[in-house]
Amino acid sequence: MTMEQRLTINVPFEFRATHWLPVRSDPHDHGFQLMLTIEGPLNPTNGFVVDMYEVRKIVEPLIDGLKGSTLNGNQSLQRGSSAGKLAATYPTCETLASYFADACTGPIGRLATGVKLKAVEMHILNDGSGGMEEWGFARVEIGG
Ligand SMILES: [Zn+2]
Repeated sequence: MTMEQRLTINVPFEFRATHWLPVRSDPHDHGFQLMLTIEGPLNPTNGFVVDMYEVRKIVEPLIDGLKGSTLNGNQSLQRGSSAGKLAATYPTCETLASYFADACTGPIGRLATGVKLKAVEMHILNDGSGGMEEWGFARVEIGG
């Protein structure tokens, strides 16, 4: 008897954007790194869990709406669900991770049978003396 293996793939994205927060009200820039973790069976007809190109086609339009923007009041975030509206109000790594989890779960799950978005991480980076330095990150685990 063979057990079907479940694999995870990780697909990274990054962008730069401006935000402010109630605790730091001067507008300032960060690097943001998004990581999508996708789980599913290995498809023996193409060697993929899912084609990363197909993942990029889903996520990149969302990234394009944020890249180089001010996240507070961002139209692309506000067009979305309540998760997007919260992210446009308080653009933290937590609310942005929640927004991407909310926006990507459905489309990723429809890419192939048995495939699901398993986790989303949003990392926040600052300009440091040695390049970009990680400040912290938030992770959403998607159940079900
Ligand atoms: Zn900040």
